[in-house]
Amino acid sequence: MTTKRRALLLGLDGATYDLLDAYCDRGLMPGFARWRSEGASGILESTNPPTTPPAWSTCVTGKNPGKHGVYDFRESFHQDRDRPLITGRSIRSRKIWDLLADVGRRSCITNFPVSYPAEEVDGVFVCGMMTPDGQADFAWPPGETERLLAKIPGYEANIDIPKYDVDQLEGARGFLDDLDASLDARIAAFWHYWEQEEWDFYFPTFVFHDRLGHLFWKYMVTGEGFDDHSHTSVVRPRIEAMYKRFDDMLVRVLDERPDDLTVFMCSDHGFGSTHTFFEVNAWLESLGLLVLKGKGRLRSRAFYKAMEIGERDAVKALIPGKLQHGIRQRIRNTRSSFKNDLAEAIDWSKTKAFFPSVPVQGILICRDVVRSQAEYDQVRDRIHRELKALKGPDGGAVVDQTWNREDLYRGPYLKYAPDVLFVAQDYATLGRPTLGAKEWFRDSRGTANGFHRMGGVWMAHGEGIAAGAAVDGAAIRDVTPTVLHAMGEPIPDDMDGHVLTDSFEEEWLKAKPIRYVEAARYDGPGEYAHSDEDAAALTERLRGLGYVD
Ligand SMILES: [Zn+2]
Repeated sequence: MTTKRRALLLGLDGATYDLLDAYCDRGLMPGFARWRSEGASGILESTNPPTTPPAWSTCVTGKNPGKHGVYDFRESFHQDRDRPLITGRSIRSRKIWDLLADVGRRSCITNFPVSYPAEEVDGVFVCGMMTPDGQADFAWPPGETERLLAKIPGYEANIDIPKYDVDQLEGARGFLDDLDASLDARIAAFWHYWEQEEWDFYFPTFVFHDRLGHLFWKYMVTGEGFDDHSHTSVVRPRIEAMYKRFDDMLVRVLDERPDDLTVFMCSDHGFGSTHTFFEVNAWLESLGLLVLKGKGRLRSRAFYKAMEIGERDAVKALIPGKLQHGIRQRIRNTRSSFKNDLAEAIDWSKTKAFFPSVPVQGILICRDVVRSQAEYDQVRDRIHRELKALKGPDGGAVVDQTWNREDLYRGPYLKYAPDVLFVAQDYATLGRPTLGAKEWFRDSRGTANGFHRMGGVWMAHGEGIAAGAAVDGAAIRDVTPTVLHAMGEPIPDDMDGHVLTDSFEEEWLKAKPIRYVEAARYDGPGEYAHSDEDAAALTERLRGLGYVD
């Protein structure tokens, strides 16, 4: 016999134990510490690469990217050469809330990052980071956007990062003000739906961990050369105050948790420092695998030079902050989309391989040029060899590991994956697509930026959960099967993830054995494409996070 239970899954974009544990040790996060000691927890391995679009898509499907087809904020070059931005419908699989709807259970999903337009769920759906700016309608059912805004005026589905130049203290303060307001609105929305909605599954995502990590990681941690930086004394206390407010929410969740509710927390990836940017396309150009058009070459060289000069400390000291910001924005605005940048500058009749974007962290082989299987194998082998032989600025090896796509993914959408993937110094050396760089490596120790790591967060708390258990070997694909099982529902047999049995008490598991069902046929999500205007605005925001150049 199974007992139906409800579940809360708190999504924390980019949360890492590296920071949370340090905050716990200092007594800043008593709620998190209590959750950890009373519940089960462990490191949650992300997708490879550990980036937001594939990781969250895997989280809600229980499947590897080869079965849902999301590898980037854009559709794959292997699918559509124009690479439109993804929408919620780019996840080509049933999601946990679809599975729950099939058995008559209601969901409330807020701020899921790979969403827009709002999905017509049985319950409530409020969109997240793929929502275009100023979009009047970002929630389901009809009228929900108005109801939410009436309750929480100023609630925004997303935050506009590009309007701030966070290198300037004034810009950093402005950004933190916005992030503060957004966090408060989301905490208010969290309690609103906690109290007002009849849900069986509640899945709100919080993104401040990720936004802070991208822009301010080195201010947040010690020993990265930023401890005495003039911004640190301003930025660090404000960040800690945000984590504290989030923790107050965790305390109240544990205090008020009804008996029939199991609560889970997961993050899509961890965070760490970046030390070096690796301009992969410049490197591919030097190998003769990527060829720029004459005009594209001149333009991208000029652009790169201007960026390089603009980022020098001496130049920063001379030019007033506002003016610098204006100049940088003007430079960036000339490069507004994939079409204008890579697509127009690259000579596609001669290019065999290119690096499309930061979230992909992999190289695509152009099958229009590399036609035969023999040549494909040869180009791919060469890329592996050259990556492994690559020496960094200090003369040492840079690349830790390389993979063919079939080593990492399987399923009908393997064909959209990058052909070769790699990781360099555990993502402290970060691959970027910028064209026109004269040197392949650029020192990024002077910027506060961080980037993702493989290790995310997994925590569970409630009846049947093993108190204080350390969960080993958890991966993000395991989240959906584990939550389904905790709710008393069977697991479809097409998932790659498994129930994280270490999270549960042995007795509870014995009484409630895991059940599997044949997966229902998936008929596809239907079509949706962002308008050109929306796409341009979204691209600008992703650029603010360093996802697009
Ligand atoms: Zn993320």
